[in-house]
Amino acid sequence: RQHHPDMSTVYVGETRVPIGPDTFTLIAGPCAVETPEQTLEAAQMALAAGATLLRGGAFKPRSSPYAFQGLGERGLQILADVRAETGLPVVTEVVDVADVELVASYADMLQIGTRNAQNFTLLQAVGDIGKPVMLKRGMSSTIEEWLMAAEYIAQRGNLDIVLCERGIRTFEKATRNTLDIAAVPVAHDLSHLPIVVDPSHSGGRRDLVVPLSRAAIAVGADGIIVDVHPHPESALCDGPQALVDSDLRALATAVRQLAPLS
Ligand code: PEP
Repeated sequence: RQHHPDMSTVYVGETRVPIGPDTFTLIAGPCAVETPEQTLEAAQMALAAGATLLRGGAFKPRSSPYAFQGLGERGLQILADVRAETGLPVVTEVVDVADVELVASYADMLQIGTRNAQNFTLLQAVGDIGKPVMLKRGMSSTIEEWLMAAEYIAQRGNLDIVLCERGIRTFEKATRNTLDIAAVPVAHDLSHLPIVVDPSHSGGRRDLVVPLSRAAIAVGADGIIVDVHPHPESALCDGPQALVDSDLRALATAVRQLAPLS
């Protein structure tokens, strides 16, 4: 921040969707890409609610090795097809240095997940590839460690970084993670990078997405990233936190009351 007094805006995709101080960006889509139909339906729901970026995981770093691990390159192809159909640029996670080029060849923005937030060789690799990066906070990272992780990307010459507060590990079990809402103004004070909040992975519960999103807006977040699924009861990943159409409309209304969507 000392070297960069003005807040940055990061532009994503060919249509240059902004994430930054002059707008509020809604990023929505399925937690995991499962089928072309499910991904397209989720994207259409997202678009109708005012989302300007599509999220979706093709490589899923799951806590259990027996859980659905994602479709890999097939998932990336589905995301690219859905982008062609809807016009929504794609944000998707990369979990391995060996896959950075592959994922970057399909994605508009690379996501570094909480489990890889201090995988320094991966951070350097996404720094080298020259595409915007969404850096999730490590579930046990301090704010300083999170910003230092961002420095690993920036040091390679890539300043198109968006920070994502997605909740941290605490003793509290009522929510999946504890959304550290104070991290948004603290990190904004220390860094010029835009910050989005993930109310889906922090709360882990559909009913918490709207209140946590309101909190995110109130503390000055530059956007939110939310999970959406046309049939959450049969979702292969994180169904309980996925929004259905009516939830998403309620979210869009709540957001519009407080922040202008980009
Ligand atoms: C995700 O956004 O798909 C995800 C797995 O998030 P996190 O890394 O925050 O758990």
